[in-house]
Amino acid sequence: MSLSMQKARDWTGIRGFPNATQNKLHELLEKLKYDKVNTLTILVMGKGGVGKSSTVNSLLGERVTYVSAFQSEGLRPMIFPRVLAGFTLNVIDTPGLVEGGYVNEQSLDTIKRFLLDKTIDVLLYVDRFDSYRVDNLDRQIIKAITDTFGKKIWKRSVIGLTHAQLSPPDGLSYDDFLARRSETLMKVIRSGATIKNREIQDYDIPIALIENSGRCTTNDDLEKVLPNGICWIPNMMKTITEVISNGSKAIYVDQKLIDGPDPNLRGKIFIPYILAFQYFFVVKYIKGSIMGDIKKEKKPLWQLRDGF
Ligand code: GDP
Ligand code: MG
Repeated sequence: MSLSMQKARDWTGIRGFPNATQNKLHELLEKLKYDKVNTLTILVMGKGGVGKSSTVNSLLGERVTYVSAFQSEGLRPMIFPRVLAGFTLNVIDTPGLVEGGYVNEQSLDTIKRFLLDKTIDVLLYVDRFDSYRVDNLDRQIIKAITDTFGKKIWKRSVIGLTHAQLSPPDGLSYDDFLARRSETLMKVIRSGATIKNREIQDYDIPIALIENSGRCTTNDDLEKVLPNGICWIPNMMKTITEVISNGSKAIYVDQKLIDGPDPNLRGKIFIPYILAFQYFFVVKYIKGSIMGDIKKEKKPLWQLRDGF
């Protein structure tokens, strides 16, 4: 059995969380089961080094996947299935989507193939909280994800922002910084995913703050807590469960989605238009000029001569 295809195991990592966190997670899973949801598959994607693998480890409460400060990531996606009281949580870690300043199409392709016959319940798109700008590369990544899975994937997404234990610069409050960072990110996501202004309400993409550092502050219940008082692990799970109950559809990855639009078919769509164009402009024009010639020919020769 390959490493990337792990068998479902009991989710023992949850027992490592403080009781308060465990209780909140149990409550969320119970609610899902009550809603007849027995599996939750989370696909984690983003640039390299943003903290995807660390987030997978934090969420499962186990060191399951390779974390590196030096961007030498694993090359293949990995799925980590965990079972708890009849509920299966699948978390999929993926390699970064950028190489040498460009979107790594090959890595995206590998991810897509890996997902064959799987259902993505939620895309957790990870980036860093403590970054101050977005650029065209971010837009390209969003566009590539959109082209791969369809625009509807953004109705099933959560933006996870790592390094969330931060003191904002320039005297900004934490919430102001969060608002600004969210706004710039959302702009680039809307642009890359071609979400129009009138569609913004249909694509209300929530943000979950993340702090994977072992030095994350804890509260009296020993839960990992952010500067805004939020216990981020149960909060992220809550955000994820809210997304799956927002009425949108999960993304099932079939062969058709993997193959993408058939290049032959893409051309064929235009055939009726080409025929119509030919009829109206070419055929009509030729007909017209033939009729003209016939008319001309019917004219007596002297009339034609006069015309010149
Ligand atoms: P990936 O390439 O996106 O999978 O990123 P990794 O999870 O391998 O993390 C890259 C580096 O960032 C590692 O050195 C991690 O320890 C560090 N890191 C990841 N998340 C956080 C975080 O939330 N806070 C801090 N302080 N460091 C983080
Ligand atoms: Mg990684």
